[in-house]
Amino acid sequence: MRIRDSFARQAKQTRGNDNVSRPELTERPASEPPSALRVGLLSLDHHPEVDAATRSQSTKRERTALELSKTFDPKSAEERWFQLWIDRGYFTADPAKPGKVFSIVIPPPNVTGQLHLGHALNVTLHDVIVRARRMQGYNTLWLPGTDHAGIATQNVVERELAKEGKTRHDLGREQFVARVWQWRELYGGKILHQLRRLGASCDWSRERFTLDEGLSRAVTKVFVMLYREGLIYRDYRLINWCPRCETALSDLEVEHKDAQGSLWHIRYPLADGTGTLTVATTRPETMLGDTAVAVHPEDDRYRDVVGKLVRLPLTDRQIPIIADDAVDRQFGTGAVKITPGHDFNDFEIGRRHGLPQISLLDTSGRTMAQQTGFGGMTPQAARAEIVNRLEVLGYLEKTEPHRHSVGVCSRCETLLEPILSPQWYLAVSKLAANQESLAGKAIKAVERGATRFYPKRWENTYFSWMHNIQDWCISRQLWWGHRIPAWWCDNHNCTRTEPIVAEASPESCPTCHGNALHQVEDVLDTWFSSGLWPFSTLGWPEHTADLARYYPTSLLLTGFDIIFFWVARMMMFGLKINPNGAEAMAEQVPFRDVYITPLVRDQFGKKMTKSRGNVVDPLEIMERYGTDAVRFTLAQLSVQGRDLILSDDRLAASRAFANKIWNAARFVLMNLEGAPQPLAPIATAQLGLAERWILSRLDKAIREVSKAIDEYRFNDAALIVYQFVWHEFCDWYIELSKEPLKAGGERQAAARYVLVTCFDRMLRILHPFMPFISEELWQAIRPYLSDTSLTEHLAVAKWPAAAEADWIAEVEALAMDRCIATTEAINSLRSLAGHHPGQRVTAVIRPHAEFDHDGLDDWRNYAITLGKVAELKILAASDGRPTGTVFAPMAWAEIGVATPEGFDFEKARALIRKKLDEVETHLKRNQERFGNPGFRAKADAETIAEIEQKIEELKMQKKTLEAQLEQLQT
Ligand SMILES: [Zn+2]
Ligand SMILES: [Zn+2]
Repeated sequence: MRIRDSFARQAKQTRGNDNVSRPELTERPASEPPSALRVGLLSLDHHPEVDAATRSQSTKRERTALELSKTFDPKSAEERWFQLWIDRGYFTADPAKPGKVFSIVIPPPNVTGQLHLGHALNVTLHDVIVRARRMQGYNTLWLPGTDHAGIATQNVVERELAKEGKTRHDLGREQFVARVWQWRELYGGKILHQLRRLGASCDWSRERFTLDEGLSRAVTKVFVMLYREGLIYRDYRLINWCPRCETALSDLEVEHKDAQGSLWHIRYPLADGTGTLTVATTRPETMLGDTAVAVHPEDDRYRDVVGKLVRLPLTDRQIPIIADDAVDRQFGTGAVKITPGHDFNDFEIGRRHGLPQISLLDTSGRTMAQQTGFGGMTPQAARAEIVNRLEVLGYLEKTEPHRHSVGVCSRCETLLEPILSPQWYLAVSKLAANQESLAGKAIKAVERGATRFYPKRWENTYFSWMHNIQDWCISRQLWWGHRIPAWWCDNHNCTRTEPIVAEASPESCPTCHGNALHQVEDVLDTWFSSGLWPFSTLGWPEHTADLARYYPTSLLLTGFDIIFFWVARMMMFGLKINPNGAEAMAEQVPFRDVYITPLVRDQFGKKMTKSRGNVVDPLEIMERYGTDAVRFTLAQLSVQGRDLILSDDRLAASRAFANKIWNAARFVLMNLEGAPQPLAPIATAQLGLAERWILSRLDKAIREVSKAIDEYRFNDAALIVYQFVWHEFCDWYIELSKEPLKAGGERQAAARYVLVTCFDRMLRILHPFMPFISEELWQAIRPYLSDTSLTEHLAVAKWPAAAEADWIAEVEALAMDRCIATTEAINSLRSLAGHHPGQRVTAVIRPHAEFDHDGLDDWRNYAITLGKVAELKILAASDGRPTGTVFAPMAWAEIGVATPEGFDFEKARALIRKKLDEVETHLKRNQERFGNPGFRAKADAETIAEIEQKIEELKMQKKTLEAQLEQLQT
């Protein structure tokens, strides 16, 4: 089939069958009242709740869209629109409303929190997907709130008290807790206001706090339930203890740091007087708690002494020499002291060998006199004392410098002490009768794909942790938090050995019926209540409409650093509690998808830390670039599985993008002067190739953006919008529309209609990323829209749907591609030939022999306009190349531009050759460096990546210059 035939036929088909599938462009009876006239900017007046800023805006209601200010003022738009959206209740969810559900709970920031870039990124991505889902017609809920953050908040208030010279003990528990609540009323939740400034479209009427009455009830209920099932239990174990916070910490709350210490070699005399055994230790201060010395069972050096006794120096105790596989033969002398009361490995070895446990320290981390012979010393002071005595008495053989890792409190950086202590635990890997363990259920749910991680590789992190999970120490010796619902009987004659665990304070002891009871002092780890967040916030344990409708949630969007703290625990609790119970068809996961946000780094790829001084304050960049630009940048840089590199350049580019959109709007509105409101719809048959082409490109963008958002490819989604707006709409269509806009009549009407249609739909797909500027501009063009289902504001407008059939035939698309390529070639040849950028030039198209000229007539005028061509000559293939012309090759033709008079080809070629030489030298140097194994071994990953990128750039430059050299051949 000849191209000509198919071109005509397909074009006809496309034009013929469109009235069915594209309702927005079809004719509507003229009698139907245009919805745009009923609402719009005018209606702002009638809402008493709108704030002063909004009112002052609406007094200018006679200001038409044509007078859109010259530049975008982000600040005023941000304040006005956010307040209005809230006042209108646009973000308030209603479980009674129809529609598929999209629900999401915010990772509750600490009530002490200050907005940082991690939050800004998290909230931006939340808001992108929530706004898109809302527009797509989902029954959408985004539930916000804060976490009481037990230890963090208690520390903040303790520091405040310290300024007054007081401790929490001076106030007493009740007064101290009252003081924390007071602090929370005054300063807490500041972060939620900062989230609002980012445009977070949360349902603010449903804001929750982990210490709310309802959430506390959920905590108590779960605790009692799991205790009765035997999954919560008490045990006396070695735990991480912060002597400053005076509380137990879970393993996750321990930060490991490298420290310079020493290795002390101490002689322990054999009890039978046959010699000494030298042990090496990094912690001589705990030796008074030794209950054995251990060696490896296959260590030949010590075969003869295993089973003997040694005399523990500085004491009159004799302790056994035992053999255990856990001993590292390479460490020190291969003989180690075993202190089950103060070391985690020793605790395990002690349990295996039935060794006694001795505690040397009290809860403030100081020595206890009874056990040590000297009371009230810090471990550091005790160490000095003991080392000194060992030396004096001749037990110390030698001391060597030694680097090792120490654990510090993640909240206050105090050196932690492992101490023995009675605590409450949640059994996570224990198998209840006929039941999967909590961790087992949570593993299976991810294995069977009920919950999916994005990027998928985080599943491995989750699995490896869950498979090695230890029982969770859930009690904390703090005052701020959920107090454990357990009471002790104070009757001395009572035979009860277990606490009374109950949802409400018990009247009397069930064993002795006495009523002298006291509640356990401990509170629960703050992550216990956060673990219930997805359903406690929806009203569980009540069977609320919210719970039935919005649980399980659709998505969890959070940082990788809390996969264990939070994600894993929500999985375990959610699957165990199964909040919808009998109503649920099957066991429900708390969320179907988990998206792990990337880590934000600075422009040099460095992690942002206070000590580096490279921390970017989101509020400051929002002030500088506008919130829309910050949001757009963060979304655009969110590539799954890759760190996010934030730079001023990127932010400035996003601001430029906002300005580009603003200017495009000004162009559109300027050209609507005198146009009817709304515009009369135009039948597709009336549209030219350029019009149908841009509508086709828009449909493609809509399809691709929708898909990218569905797949959490935020970067792709943002880029698609950007490409469409900047390159296709602004660079091409706006230019192409200028001529018909000037022509008047039907062609002008068609161009106006397509400009407005594109702008409307473009703003809709832009809205999730840049909610403020898109709302502002949408209000300006809204009066021209003839959509019958028009909403008053973009925040609740419908997500556009792409037409089922394409607007243009394949051959037409090909023709437009040729048009664009030709125009681009003319523009680049213009500069190569040394013309001024605005200079109108003579251009030639010299098609190859087999080229079909028919399509050319449809677009040659576009190329003339956009290429600023004074004269476009179409040559025959048989015509020779005209002289004084520079040429660029295409697959189907050669495009040429005439050079100005006196153009020196030789000089131009020399110039390009010189540039080419420079680029080649540079490229060679970089390639050599890159290929050098010595360099690669030393350079860090960032430097290597930089060079790699540089090489790519230079290769591109080389290619361009070589092509230009080719183009300058006469
Ligand atoms: Zn601490
Ligand atoms: Zn009792």
